[in-house]
Amino acid sequence: MSVSWETLELHTAQPFGIARWTHSVYPRTVVTFTQDGLSGRGEAAPNAFYGETRGTVEAVLPLLAGALTDLWDWDGLHERLSARMPQGHPSVKCALEMAALEYCAVSVGLPVWTLLGLSPAPLPRSSFTVSLAGVPEMRQQAREAVGAGHTVLKVKLGTARDEAILGALREEVPDVALRVDANAGWTRPQAKRMLGVLDAARVELLEQPLAAGDLAGHAELRRLSRVPLVADESLHHVRDVTALAEAFDGVNLKLAKLGGPLQALAALRLARAHDLSVMIGCMIESSLGIAAAAHLAGLCDWADLDGALLLADDPFTGLDWTAGELARPPGPGWGVERR
Ligand SMILES: [Mg+2]
Repeated sequence: MSVSWETLELHTAQPFGIARWTHSVYPRTVVTFTQDGLSGRGEAAPNAFYGETRGTVEAVLPLLAGALTDLWDWDGLHERLSARMPQGHPSVKCALEMAALEYCAVSVGLPVWTLLGLSPAPLPRSSFTVSLAGVPEMRQQAREAVGAGHTVLKVKLGTARDEAILGALREEVPDVALRVDANAGWTRPQAKRMLGVLDAARVELLEQPLAAGDLAGHAELRRLSRVPLVADESLHHVRDVTALAEAFDGVNLKLAKLGGPLQALAALRLARAHDLSVMIGCMIESSLGIAAAAHLAGLCDWADLDGALLLADDPFTGLDWTAGELARPPGPGWGVERR
């Protein structure tokens, strides 16, 4: 079996802003396992918040790729990767897990979701992100998204002007579902003040209002809030799920931060055991990474899988977004092809 990888610099169509930063360029590394004329592919979407950069991805890939000798040994995949790198590097582990799963699925001619025996239920309708910018730009993003058929918008907040932003967007697009993601950008007093604003704007859910480590603050906010609270930055690993069950109503599962599709499934099962709702989310990543998340989305309550739609130069094609609604990729494998 051979392994190869290539880092692509992907560009968002517009600068993409959240509470912590605004970027336009996203290095993403595509990993390919090849054997007997068949290939499996995975994507590493590193995020500095989770301790990864292009440099760390390229440095640890050779070490971790060499740990996988049997791609059918799914129970052992994460164990072997963790034996070489116990901590961190979740996007590299994700890329390798994705590539192994697709190799196995392609070798038997099935989509990955079928190979894993996952739910054939329709996918929840994905949100489309309105990134943090000036109010006129955010109004325009919302208007264009609704014009393209999107009926669920996720608004990036986490500033001192959030009430004005939310009021403007509710006025601009009165009939769509709005979700809010503060990306850990609020203080406790600010979050308490915003609860009434969220209610007035008929917000459907609130993602990560407070700092990742502030579980007590989230638990207090949850008692006061009529809007469900969803953990994103507070969830780095399967082992975190149990500690979040008191403080949140749901969790946002992203393959690139959890270490791959099998790790995300483990987190999903644990979340359900704790009666947590589940969102399947993404980084800014190509349609390859989005496809992998889409294979799991039938098991989830909410989907936030617009990462590739925000790109000007998505290197993969094959996802069906007719009328703003993401269809389950048909397969075999992940069901997307290099452009
Ligand atoms: Mg988030």
